[in-house]
Amino acid sequence: MNITIIAETGGNRLHGVTSQLVGAANELGGTITLLCPGGVGEIEASEISGVSKVISLKGDCFSSFDSGAWSTVMAPHCDGIVIASSSPTGRELASQIASKIGVPVVQDLTGIDQDMKMTRSVYSGKAIETSTASGSCVITLRQNAFESAGSGGNAELITVDSTSEVSVAVKEAMAKAGERLDVSEADIVISGGRGMGEPANFSHLNEVADVIGAAVGASRAAVDSWDEIPHSMQVGQTGKTVNPSLYIAVGISGAIQHLAGMRSSKYIVAINKDPDAPIFGVADYGIVATWEEALPSLKEELAKL
Ligand SMILES: Cc1cc2nc3c(=O)[nH]c(=O)nc-3n(C[C@H](O)[C@H](O)[C@H](O)COP(=O)(O)OP(=O)(O)OC[C@H]3O[C@@H](n4cnc5c(N)ncnc54)[C@H](O)[C@@H]3O)c2cc1C
Repeated sequence: MNITIIAETGGNRLHGVTSQLVGAANELGGTITLLCPGGVGEIEASEISGVSKVISLKGDCFSSFDSGAWSTVMAPHCDGIVIASSSPTGRELASQIASKIGVPVVQDLTGIDQDMKMTRSVYSGKAIETSTASGSCVITLRQNAFESAGSGGNAELITVDSTSEVSVAVKEAMAKAGERLDVSEADIVISGGRGMGEPANFSHLNEVADVIGAAVGASRAAVDSWDEIPHSMQVGQTGKTVNPSLYIAVGISGAIQHLAGMRSSKYIVAINKDPDAPIFGVADYGIVATWEEALPSLKEELAKL
């Protein structure tokens, strides 16, 4: 069985989730080819254990993400089972590649075995769907749901220049000034809800986030109530799905639609003044207190680590 993995990149480096994609592929067994868009992290990629071949795709189109252009270049190199990350870019790329090579796509898997039995959560995390695939398909895997492959590999490295294959490509995407780490990419997320009282109080979350290198998210109630909190920060059923190692929910009640986007986080910490708040039902650690009481000491203690 051939397996093609699309390396996840960000900020001109290989994203850690790429090793998790390889880890999952190693469990399936087969010959693994890793595609590195723009050649980003090609050496590091070739050293991931289990990878047989790295195809480093060079070309103008890789200067900025454009799923149309990227999938045009990548599709001819996709063979067998194609695996990408379930990030926003990974999902978009997966759909485009699946349509170009004419195979099914299954998004956001949290489990897969050698018989291609695949699991993912549906209905806001209330049920687990199991499906199987025979033959080629494109799948995306949720971050942190799979063990990373180790290092120590020595894959063959091939460079392909695809400049002439793409006629239209995005040249530059300008990030908004001062934009923080995106919640769907971060390994630690601290989110605020309506319990934060007013948008200016999100500065307290930013301060904790700066100490631990976290992204800042929000509940829909916070996003809907305050123009200063953009929709891009929303976690949940109609926002982003996150799966970080640590999720800290502050002043968030824990409505089912919010849980849908974060309940699979490895560790969940909740700060809420209401001991009966549903968020405590999914939290590994709960602090029954106002955020005004809890956040300063949390920040102080985290800064000591
Ligand atoms: C179709 C649909 C889709 C939805 N999609 C989403 C989604 O994607 N994401 C999402 O989040 N929601 C979503 N919702 C909304 C969801 O149902 C809830 O209304 C929302 O999550 C509530 O946000 P909240 O917990 O911030 O606010 P609230 O429910 O108002 O809870 C605020 C919490 O803060 C606590 N609190 C108050 N003051 C303090 C303080 N000083 N210190 C500590 N704690 C305090 C309170 O005890 C309370 O638990 C959706 C709803 C629908 C119908």
